[in-house]
Amino acid sequence: MQQPAVEFSDLDFSPGQIRREAERLYEHLRHAEFSLAECELIAPLTLEINRLKEEKRAVILAHSYQTPDIIYGIADYSGDSLGLSRHAAESEAEVIVFCGVRFMAETAKVLSPHKTVLHPAPDAGCSLADSITAGEVRRLKAEHPGVPVVCYINTSAEVKAESDACCTSANALEVIEAMEGDEVIFIPDQLMAQNLQPYTKKRLITWQGTCIVHENFMAETVDYFKRRFPDLKVLVHTECDAAVVAHADLAGSTGNMVEYVRSHHPGRFMLVTECGLADRLRVEFPESEFIGSCVLCPYMKRINLRNVLQCMKEPRPEQIVELPEEVIRRARRAIDRMLEIGRGRPLKVDNGKG
Ligand code: SF4
Repeated sequence: MQQPAVEFSDLDFSPGQIRREAERLYEHLRHAEFSLAECELIAPLTLEINRLKEEKRAVILAHSYQTPDIIYGIADYSGDSLGLSRHAAESEAEVIVFCGVRFMAETAKVLSPHKTVLHPAPDAGCSLADSITAGEVRRLKAEHPGVPVVCYINTSAEVKAESDACCTSANALEVIEAMEGDEVIFIPDQLMAQNLQPYTKKRLITWQGTCIVHENFMAETVDYFKRRFPDLKVLVHTECDAAVVAHADLAGSTGNMVEYVRSHHPGRFMLVTECGLADRLRVEFPESEFIGSCVLCPYMKRINLRNVLQCMKEPRPEQIVELPEEVIRRARRAIDRMLEIGRGRPLKVDNGKG
């Protein structure tokens, strides 16, 4: 991976400024196992990024799978796809720095076409978004004439432009139910489609995309931890296999998981999703225990403080998100349809008991 040309020597802060910033960072990051010495090392970067944020009237949005130094050091808002989409639309900042993967930065551009949207790691794709092209959506539509297309938000702007409505893992069911007819083309996550199918009478026609993080979780692992810790609450992302979802106390989006922990803490939780969410919640709910396995998303982890700083100072052309006007107009229609339909709810809570 290309290293940005930003060195600590570029940054000119006094020892006192660095110490105060390190202490501010440590207050949060110690819960994610950062030492004070590590906070002192990154303090010049967060100081400079936060200074540039004011100078350039920028807002930094970070997905929950980002590392804690990004979420607690520089982000103005952290959350899941739906929350980030709304913030991107409502923000008055002139520049949006998007710490997440490419389709998310594209979504921010669709919602804020007149703002500059910066994406520090343009090669940070997503196995779901990259599984389907706009041409393949057109082919599906030709094969199933008149059937509405609902695309998961993990798709490119061009794929959204071919869709009738967009959805997130939080509101997928509501969006599907709002479509006319008995069938819906639901793209591109086949595992999410399998999880949604029992909850709707509409027949879902799907695609063969999967998330390389969530497809790795196994029901046996969840079962092992549930037997070992009888009080364990298992929160599963709906991008996981249906056999894993069957073990869940809650199945939904990362936002649903955060809300569940907020309303059930202190407690013992297993988050069956990308590691970044457990890191974030360890900081926010230090009296709770987060156990078990997680899987890192190699795409999400391509964003770091150095490439954020580099792209805020002097963005390379590929770090500035640009989309054709026609794609923006049509993708916006699909996102607006989703936002009109609703905020969403978990697919499953407490195995139907609560
Ligand atoms: S965790 Fe999965 S769905 Fe999310 S960005 Fe990574 S590959 Fe894509």
